Amino acid sequence: MLTRIGDIEVWRILESVDTFLTPPDFFPDMDEDGLALMRKVAPKQLCPETGMMLIPIQGFLIKTLTHTVLVDACIGNDKTCEFHEPWHKRSDGRFLASLTAAGVGPADIDYVLCTHLHPDHVGWNTRLEDGRWVPTFPNAHYIMPSSDHAHFSSDPGDCYNESVLPVIQAKQAELVSSDHKIGDHLSLIPTPGHTPGHVSIVIADKGNEAVISGDVMHSTIQCLKPEWNFVYDHDPDLAAVTRRAFLEMVCETDKLLLGSHLPLPSFGRLRTAADAFKWLGH
Ligand SMILES: [Zn+2]
Repeated sequence: MLTRIGDIEVWRILESVDTFLTPPDFFPDMDEDGLALMRKVAPKQLCPETGMMLIPIQGFLIKTLTHTVLVDACIGNDKTCEFHEPWHKRSDGRFLASLTAAGVGPADIDYVLCTHLHPDHVGWNTRLEDGRWVPTFPNAHYIMPSSDHAHFSSDPGDCYNESVLPVIQAKQAELVSSDHKIGDHLSLIPTPGHTPGHVSIVIADKGNEAVISGDVMHSTIQCLKPEWNFVYDHDPDLAAVTRRAFLEMVCETDKLLLGSHLPLPSFGRLRTAADAFKWLGH
């Protein structure tokens, strides 16, 4: 188990930790001192051999007393991904083995919660069975932000067709507003910018709170530099405004922050520092 929020268990479901772009390609807003700052405050996110960004791909499994919820479903197997070869037609057992290690099988998942509909967050929504994409989690409601669905369904690509549409056709998808709640302990909050309908997930129990950022941020360096956008943020101006407001909220309310792509162990707390924030770890 990764951590506990009151009586709620949070488990890491790790699929991979791989290199993805050089820091200046990853963060186009990085200035000439940026790389030195990365080496100083976020060295674990730099591959020692290549100097490229090291990015975990993971979901978080949440066990409340009543529900088992998977937040984000990583890349998946057999998926078509022309733009990034390591994600293309994978055949890897680590994600499902990680679920097993958390004491959960696919049929035990009550909800799959997608922070957004990018290929590294929805892949295991489906799996290939006899040449057809079928929901991996047969008993789950799949919660997806409706404005992300509107965006990605307007010009559907491989990711939508392989990992989202089959769930809708199986009548297991629920397209929800960005302030949706699941039970007494889980709430979506709108964090648009990385994608139009991106949401983060607040977990609360017995006065303890955590938040799963999704892709509001990709590195702890963005605590110090909230204005550094990720190269694939859909609306960079909005992403930067959302990121600063999100970090402010996390700080003010002293929530534990869990970040999908933050270097392992991928969770910690913040405090304010100068005109931004400092990552304290856990
Ligand atoms: Zn991502």
